[in-house]
Amino acid sequence: MKGFAMLGIGKTGWIEKERPKCGPLDAIVKPIALAPCTSDVHTVWEGAIGDRHNMILGHEATGEIVEVGELVKDFKVGDRVLVPAITPDWNSLEAQAGFAMHSGGMLAGWKFSNFKDGVFAEYFHVNDADGNLALIPEGVDPVVATMLSDMAPTGLQSAELANIQLGDEVLVIGIGPVGLMAVAGANLKGASRIYAVGTRPKCVEAAKFYGATDIINYKEGPIEDQVLELTNGKGVDRILIAGGNVDTFQGAVKALKAGGIISNVNYLGKGEFIKIPRVEWGVGMGHKTITGGLMLGGRLRMEKLGMLVQTGKLDLSKLITHRFNGLEKVEEALMLMKDKPKDLIKPVVIVAEDLMD
Ligand code: NDP
Ligand code: ZN
Repeated sequence: MKGFAMLGIGKTGWIEKERPKCGPLDAIVKPIALAPCTSDVHTVWEGAIGDRHNMILGHEATGEIVEVGELVKDFKVGDRVLVPAITPDWNSLEAQAGFAMHSGGMLAGWKFSNFKDGVFAEYFHVNDADGNLALIPEGVDPVVATMLSDMAPTGLQSAELANIQLGDEVLVIGIGPVGLMAVAGANLKGASRIYAVGTRPKCVEAAKFYGATDIINYKEGPIEDQVLELTNGKGVDRILIAGGNVDTFQGAVKALKAGGIISNVNYLGKGEFIKIPRVEWGVGMGHKTITGGLMLGGRLRMEKLGMLVQTGKLDLSKLITHRFNGLEKVEEALMLMKDKPKDLIKPVVIVAEDLMD
């Protein structure tokens, strides 16, 4: 089969590989639709997970099952499925402790395009099919549903980790696709004012659609100054971080009320330390929590998010700005993700012929 791979740091290309083998609990899936991720860009061009040779990229997909292992109970050949970017080992001790995304070691529930070949191929392998796959709910567009692999679970999780309360004022830093889902999550959790930080016009428009009440341009001055001005010096109750860098936390701690929570889902690629400003952290006694996490994978999570889409509570279509037809287009879509033109939020590549535009 052919797949689009990382050949080494900074290098990509098409390669031929054997179709993956199906273990007794596993499934082999052919893609219906695929999406490149900012994380693929970090992987290839920043060497975020170290060097990888001839590793097929991609972890965002919907697909159709072409083979199941003899111990798989709930899925069969021909089923159209949601595929989470994170596919934990559900019998691991980490999963039993409630952190399945870290099964086998920190961040090790992330297998596609990390420890094994990813989804940008004619076929891909899914471990523990019963534990990790979910049927695409009736009425949900299988192309748009690619946003359930990673964008929705990651962004929404930031709102969950921050334990947003009804009426909270929430600051969302970064409104790429992940941050937009953080805005949507804050809105679903009952936030009142939602301050969203970003500049790309398409993202700003989408942020307003998902519930942002105020837009902050980080290029026009420190975020914390703008937040403190908008809140009459009080700051916000919760901060969700889906953009920026290690320095973003300093301003965030300053913009947060005592007792508030900062939750990060941004990938921090550079810098040795995250600095916490001593005085604004209440000289160590401000009850300001800083947390962060990798998305939760697995079937239950996928089924619940699928229900949010099916019932119209979450509209993922606003994330998709570019559509391509044919597997070979993943290359172009990934380059788009790397270059981030102003009109981009997220591209998708449609592989199933019956769904092509
Ligand atoms: P994008 O690059 O599309 O979005 C980044 C956002 O951050 C943009 O809105 C950008 O603004 C804004 N931004 C950039 N620089 C700053 C700054 N200095 N201060 C404040 N805001 C800034 O990324 P994605 O939405 O695709 O992904 C966001 C992050 O989430 C990535 O690091 C990705 O790797 C990570 N991720 C994490 C996962 C997890 O499980 N935890 C899973 C998937 C992704 P502008 O409008 O100007 O571009
Ligand atoms: Zn991703």
